[in-house]
Parts: sequence; C-alpha cells; structure tokens
Amino acid sequence: MRKISDMDLKQSTVGFIGLGKMGWPIARNLSSSGIRLIVNDADMDVAKRFADTYSARFVSYEDLDEELGVVILMLPNGDIVNSVLFGGGESGASGLAHRLGKGSLVIDMSSSEPNGTRERGQALAELGIAFIDAPVSGGVKKAESRELAVMVGGDEQIYKDISPLLAMMGNKLFYVGPLGAGHAIKALNNYVSAAGLVAASDAVQIARNFGIEPAKAIDVLNASSGRNNSTEGKFQQFILSQAFNSGFSLGLMAKDLGIALSMAEGLHRNSPVLEACAELWNQAKHSMPEGRDHTEIFRFMSERE
Ligand code: NAD
Repeated sequence: MRKISDMDLKQSTVGFIGLGKMGWPIARNLSSSGIRLIVNDADMDVAKRFADTYSARFVSYEDLDEELGVVILMLPNGDIVNSVLFGGGESGASGLAHRLGKGSLVIDMSSSEPNGTRERGQALAELGIAFIDAPVSGGVKKAESRELAVMVGGDEQIYKDISPLLAMMGNKLFYVGPLGAGHAIKALNNYVSAAGLVAASDAVQIARNFGIEPAKAIDVLNASSGRNNSTEGKFQQFILSQAFNSGFSLGLMAKDLGIALSMAEGLHRNSPVLEACAELWNQAKHSMPEGRDHTEIFRFMSERE
C-alpha cells in the first residue's frame, strides 16, 4: 500500500459500507472534508438517501466499476464484515474482496471480534489487500463532532499513512499493536464502560430504595470518587430523563462483552466480574425487544428488583 497524502485522498474514491447510527455521521464528515465516496448498506434506501444527500454514489458490489484505494467498513459485527468481504452469510451478497484491486486497503471500523479479524487479514493478504482494524469510541455525538477515539491494529506504517483520513473522523488516534489489537482494546473498553454503567445503576437503585432521590445520588457520585462516564454522560440525559436514546444498542454492548469474555477465556484467564457482567447484559438482550438502547439496562435491572 502506498502512502496516502491529502492530495491522494482528494483525488481517489473511498468506499464506505454501513451507514447506521455511527456510519452515517462518519461518512458525512468524510464527504464534507472533500472525500469522494462510494457507499453501500444492506438497507438500500438508507444508502440511496445518503448518496442523494451528500453527492456520493451508491453502488452494489457486483456493479463496482471504479478502483477503490480504501474501503471503510462500519458494520454491526465481525460475521457481517466477513460476509461483506467474502460473500455468503445472511446478506447473500457476493464478496467485495474479489472486486478490490491488489494494493487496496480495507479498514474495519466496526467493533469486531479480534481473532476473526486476524483470520480475515490473512485471507485478504492472499489477495494482495491490506487490512487494519480501527474501531472507535465516543458514540453518535462524538462521531458527529469528529471527536471519536480511534484505536488501530495492524501495520504501523499503514496507520501513519492513513492518519490524515482517520483525523477526519476522530481527534484521539491510537496505534495499539498488530492486527486485531484495536478490536481487542475496544471490547475491553466496553467491558469497563458496561461494568461502570451497571455498577452505577445498581447503586442508584439501592439509594432510591433507601429513600435517596436518583438525581441527588448521581449529583453526589459526580462530585465524588464514584463518578464514571455513565454517571457523568448518560444518567441525566438518557436514563433519569427516560429518553433511553443514546444511539448505542443494548445488543451491540452485549456483543462487545461476549467478545471480551471470549478473549479472557481464550487466554485462560478467570474473570468473574467480566463473566457476571456479560451474563447480565446477555439476559437483558434476550428479555428485551431488539434495537433497545443500551441505557435501558437500568430499566432491566430495576424490573428485576
Ligand atoms: P447500526 O446497527 O446503527 O448500523 C449498522 C449498519 O450496517 C446498518 O445501517 C445496517 O443496515 C448495515 N448493515 C448490516 N448488515 C449489512 C451488510 N451485510 N451489508 C451492508 N450493510 C449492512 O450500528 P451502529 O450503532 O452504527 O454500530 C456500528 C458498529 O460500530 C458496531 O460494530 C458497533 O458495535 C460499533 N460502535 C457503535 C457505537 C454507537 O454508539 N452506536 C459506538 C462505538 C462503536
């Protein structure tokens, strides 16, 4: 893969697949930075709406007629990344990898399982395609404001070369290690985040049963050593308001905990807190309709009292 300069970026076309809650604002920011995009999504209406709104081109993989130097994936999980790249799976789409030229680069910004990422890296390398993982943290709000944290695994030189592109999406860029390292630290980050949210939910519900107003409990935590990202950023806006609309689904969080747990198991590490946390989120996922926001874990825990 040759070095990507600002000039190259403005002159070549980037593929972007997965225009959901995160993909849409990220792709929109790329477009407004002058990147020419080809887009695709399993929901064709969404992809066409994006293309119409931001002067991008919607193209099915079969009709891909332009050489893409870079393709960005922002998909729900690694299995779907696999089916998009190599065909098969639920989508039934034929594989994109066979339509890309040698020397192109695929960037998986989804939160995928790291061992699967390493296998995909091997399969793509055999086709002469480079692959890096670059999942993100910060949610929809920071995707909109280009303030995402981006954690990259793979070839370090490629990371350096594509930093100008990543900087159009986030302002905290990290090179973490070899392929899969970005996906690994992303799952572990979400373990810490999910554990913080359930610990705070538990504490607020115990406080409420003791006669302390939830809003007061959160104020105290936020002024004290118990504060975390959830107490500071999620309780007032999404939980106590009962809006439950952070834009990150409960199913995706349960997936990330499953990834963190399988990493621990694969490394023969006993992690009782992670096990309990993954089990709780898994139960919540199965007892609530699909698509519920992850902040509804508070409601799930409250109903179990
Ligand atoms: P989402 O469900 O809103 O979007 C996923 C998009 O992928 C949808 O538009 C869907 O139609 C599309 N898609 C599904 N299968 C496809 C296929 N076979 N081909 C093409 N498109 C397909 O999910 P999201 O919240 O945008 O999350 C995307 C990824 O980012 C996930 O891996 C998630 O864990 C991660 N993530 C999400 C957030 C967040 O706050 N939402 C934050 C950080 C990371």
